[in-house]
Amino acid sequence: MVKPKTEEEIELLRENAVLVSKTLAEVGRIVAPGVTTLELNRVAETFIRDHGAVPSFLGYEGFPAALCLSVNDTVVHGFPSDYVLKEGDIVSVDCGTLYKGYNGDSAYTFPVGEVDAATRKLLDATKASLYEGIKAAVAGNRTGDIGYAVQSYAESFGFSVVRALEGHGLGREMHEQPGVPNYGRPGRGTHLVEGMVICVEPMINEGVKDVYLAGNGWAVKTSDHKKSAHYELTVVVRRGKAEQLSTFEYIEKDSRINF
Ligand code: MG
Ligand code: MG
Repeated sequence: MVKPKTEEEIELLRENAVLVSKTLAEVGRIVAPGVTTLELNRVAETFIRDHGAVPSFLGYEGFPAALCLSVNDTVVHGFPSDYVLKEGDIVSVDCGTLYKGYNGDSAYTFPVGEVDAATRKLLDATKASLYEGIKAAVAGNRTGDIGYAVQSYAESFGFSVVRALEGHGLGREMHEQPGVPNYGRPGRGTHLVEGMVICVEPMINEGVKDVYLAGNGWAVKTSDHKKSAHYELTVVVRRGKAEQLSTFEYIEKDSRINF
């Protein structure tokens, strides 16, 4: 049985979620052709520390950076590098904070300049699949209801769901129970209880679902080298409707960002 969070804990998780949401928007402002992923990481780390928080990914099991920056066929856990983003790329930005003893964790996939129609469709469908999953994150449901919602939506476009990684509970630890798979069957999995705080984070591939671990032991890449998208939000399980703690509104209200 997963212990729900108290309302006091939820407020601390909300503070983290807002900071992560604003950090993603700061990063989104500078995503453009010609920018390196190292520069995106620098902007995020500075913003997080300026707000009195710590980038929780840095040093996590040896991860070397504040952000996971995953370009094109990298699904998740890419390292920042001197790779120069180019028109038509996509870059998934996953951000974590540690503040007042609690964690924040959210992700957004940004197009770099103009992307082709197929890529736009992948981004839109992945983000929409996240919201479908969140709709199912209500008390009385089970994690399989979330997974089923994500999977059935994403697959209706001919895309595939990465199985190797999943969403999770969030609290004092970055990864808590329950696991929240992005595939599954209704009525299966962990029971969702009011006050549970979870991250829903579909990783959706344009081509096959299979992935492999790159030689650096971190980056997860698509086996067919087609693109993959990743969006993540933190929500509180409530009765009737989940409460979103993190948000993409800071990203999407900014007209300078071509989301
Ligand atoms: Mg994340
Ligand atoms: Mg996560």
